[in-house]
Amino acid sequence: MEFLQDDTVFDTTSKHANVDVVCGMDIIEEKCKHRSEYRGSTYYFCSSPCQKHFDDYPERYVWDEA
Ligand SMILES: [Zn+2]
Repeated sequence: MEFLQDDTVFDTTSKHANVDVVCGMDIIEEKCKHRSEYRGSTYYFCSSPCQKHFDDYPERYVWDEA
């Protein structure tokens, strides 16, 4: 069986996968208490410091897809 490289985990720009875009941790959506909405997408975070960092500088983590 062939596995693709793990970079899909970090493909937050197209899929908004359940990954903390600040630190790269995998997020289990159902258990995640830290979330922010930005430009119509929901982002999940492992902790409130990560969430705060995103809220302060969302443009560092989100790129325009247009
Ligand atoms: Zn984090």
